[in-house]
Amino acid sequence: MHDQTQAGPDALSVYLFQIADAVQKKVVDSPLALVSMIREVTAAADQILASAALTCESQVPDCGSGCSFCCHSRIHVIPLEAVLICCHVHKHFSPEAVQGLKTRIRSNLTYTRGSSFARRVAVKDRTPCIFLDHHACSIYDQRPFICRTWNSLSRQDCETAFISGNQNAEIPCLSGPNYVYTLARDVVQAVCETMHLETGRFELVSAMDRCLDLADAPSVWTGGGTVFGRLKTEKNSEKRGM
Ligand code: SF4
Repeated sequence: MHDQTQAGPDALSVYLFQIADAVQKKVVDSPLALVSMIREVTAAADQILASAALTCESQVPDCGSGCSFCCHSRIHVIPLEAVLICCHVHKHFSPEAVQGLKTRIRSNLTYTRGSSFARRVAVKDRTPCIFLDHHACSIYDQRPFICRTWNSLSRQDCETAFISGNQNAEIPCLSGPNYVYTLARDVVQAVCETMHLETGRFELVSAMDRCLDLADAPSVWTGGGTVFGRLKTEKNSEKRGM
């Protein structure tokens, strides 16, 4: 059993660790099956939130189809999230769609290359996510944990903050999904660490660039190889102002 103290001793993290550990035991002979760990932990987190919504009086988020203000910001992912999305892209995107994705990645990386950290933040917070398609997420079921955490209680406040470019706007949001999905991501990351897999948090665009550039990034990473190593981690890039 995994050391449950790594994500806090509370019952929720114990439960999520148990799910991740159970999947981990099944992947010994098939490392690629590791992507099912993130799916099962996500499903458990979904279930926890659905049960909580049934038993507690909870506010209803103002998020909805066609609203994509929060999909114009810098998204960071852990390696297993990038690997999961990469598997999905290879399996479900047409060759034209993959080419379109690569073009968006290239242009996204190009117009922020060499810029200061402040400018990169400003530009990326006005730029649609590489997976945004007509205001809808093209990888919705595989979207990263960070995208699941944000549940705004005011679409109007999101719109006002987006139009004004105020990155520090106080927007009311649900705390439950934020807590549960952040915990779920930390549990997945902690289990990957115990398996000595490459870890860190990388900007989605750069991570997908690396994944799509390699012939078989999912197999390389699940086999213990290096896929993201030369990318700046979230922590380092902000510390260095890059
Ligand atoms: S991955 Fe999907 S949900 Fe997340 S920012 Fe991109 S388009 Fe939005």
